[in-house]
Amino acid sequence: MRRPTVVLFSYTGDVERVCAAAMRSCYSNFPAFHVYTIRDRGDLSEAPLTDERVQELIQRARRLGHLSVLEHGLFTFDLENISRACTHQLVRHRIASFSQQSQRHVRIDEETDWYAIPPSLDVDSQRKFEERMRTVASWYSEDSKRGRKIEDARFYLPNATKTNIVVSMNPRELLHVYELRCGAEAQWEIRAVAWAMLACSKLVAPSIFSKIAHKASNAYLEEKEEELGRILSKLRPHFEKAIPGKNMEIPLATLNLGLDVQAFVYKR
Ligand SMILES: Cc1cc2nc3c(=O)[nH]c(=O)nc-3n(C[C@H](O)[C@H](O)[C@H](O)COP(=O)(O)OP(=O)(O)OC[C@H]3O[C@@H](n4cnc5c(N)ncnc54)[C@H](O)[C@@H]3O)c2cc1C
Repeated sequence: MRRPTVVLFSYTGDVERVCAAAMRSCYSNFPAFHVYTIRDRGDLSEAPLTDERVQELIQRARRLGHLSVLEHGLFTFDLENISRACTHQLVRHRIASFSQQSQRHVRIDEETDWYAIPPSLDVDSQRKFEERMRTVASWYSEDSKRGRKIEDARFYLPNATKTNIVVSMNPRELLHVYELRCGAEAQWEIRAVAWAMLACSKLVAPSIFSKIAHKASNAYLEEKEEELGRILSKLRPHFEKAIPGKNMEIPLATLNLGLDVQAFVYKR
């Protein structure tokens, strides 16, 4: 079965130092690059940008709402085997870049699990759902086999159709997306995908993504963030030591996301 999968495969490796240098440069006589490299220069006219200082500057930026400094960096995710319903929701986020598998050029393979099944369906409803999907697939293949372009046959396809999409966002927009999409009120699929993306983001940039703000106090969010913290604190030493080129899986089972989504971070 093709499971929904999130892969963070490209990211600004020193994103937290870059954002912290940008933050500090707003309040210093020194420009950002000077602040960024000060540790190497041994210059005492400005405090060195230690890991603690990076963390403190980022926390201050988040606390003050000085969020433009968190726009200096990019995270690119590969999202695989998620439904078109989910990507419709995702692409509403405008401060992002997307590239989605084309239904004009890529045929669905009717012999595979080409559609997502809502986990809320009981056995009987699932059987009926799958039966209906087989009917849809038969319309799709009948039309496309008659030599018509699949750009027309695709009109039969439902929101459940699986797709792949690449998405790039800066850390500020990611924080916004997580605030909206990780909460209990978000829909089950985009919520699980957002948690998987958050897990990847936290592994790479723990200070920027330290805590997701939410309008109301939210036990759901807090409980899951605590559990994710436990998962990542075990994994982080292995990730730091991992050899570049390795794809590290973040085990998400104990987050109980209601969807069997996989998350990976590519070690650069
Ligand atoms: C639980 C939930 C239910 C939803 N239900 C529906 C629904 O029923 N129907 C529906 O149509 N949508 C629905 N949405 C989508 C929602 O309305 C937004 O389109 C989506 O969440 C994108 O968020 P955004 O506009 O804040 O941010 P983004 O597009 O991610 O932009 C980030 C921020 O940039 C700023 N910004 C971006 N563009 C503009 C602009 N043109 N003008 C001013 N400021 C801008 C805003 O501050 C915005 O918050 C739902 C979303 C959620 C989370």
